Amino acid sequence: MEEFVVTVDGPAGSGKSTIAKIVAKKYDLTYLDTGAMYRMIALYSLENRVNLEDERSVVEMLENTKLDIIGNQFFLNGKDVSAEIRTPEVSAVVSPVAAIKAVRVKLVELQREISKGKRIILDGRDIGTVVFPKAQVKIFLVASPEERARRRLNEYKEKGIEEDYESVLNSIKERDHIDSTRKESPLKKAEDAIEIDSSKMSIDEVVEAISNCIDRKVG
Ligand code: C5P
Repeated sequence: MEEFVVTVDGPAGSGKSTIAKIVAKKYDLTYLDTGAMYRMIALYSLENRVNLEDERSVVEMLENTKLDIIGNQFFLNGKDVSAEIRTPEVSAVVSPVAAIKAVRVKLVELQREISKGKRIILDGRDIGTVVFPKAQVKIFLVASPEERARRRLNEYKEKGIEEDYESVLNSIKERDHIDSTRKESPLKKAEDAIEIDSSKMSIDEVVEAISNCIDRKVG
């Protein structure tokens, strides 16, 4: 089977994972949520109070973390952490963790390994620019910070997590800032990516726009 890669990059809360899951189902693609991988490392660093300033501690952390992804479930050293990685506490520390070069080297390698020989859709920040620069279809999904904060707040509500709009908005802006100004693989649109602004679009409309891009490539 020939490898076929669709990349969906964009800022926090732009709807990447919701959309990528639907597109995966529609085209029978494997879906890989790369943000969840960074979140697992961030969770480990929180739980083990890892000093992120200290190179040796970071290397040790990476040696001690085994990530497994089975369907929609995420396992950190054998423990299902699918719920824990979505908390505001993890969101608050994930961007500094993801800015560390050694962390990115490990996770990019893992992402390429998981994708090998597959028909796959991945979402993240640097998938179209760094992980798969030769992907067949590249999408850059954006939305206004206010709309993204509203969506995130709804997700938290559904999970019974109490947060207020202002702190979610601030956390999203803070994450955008760190992700797009970091030295290693910053969040940016690949030159050949199609940008879609989902602020005023329904989920179905975004799925249709991406489907058109895929159909043009495969059709
Ligand atoms: O996609 P999600 O919001 O879950 O990603 C969490 C964090 O992981 C991002 O804010 C970013 O710091 C980092 N990330 C990254 N590169 C990716 C995916 C996520 O740096 N490919």
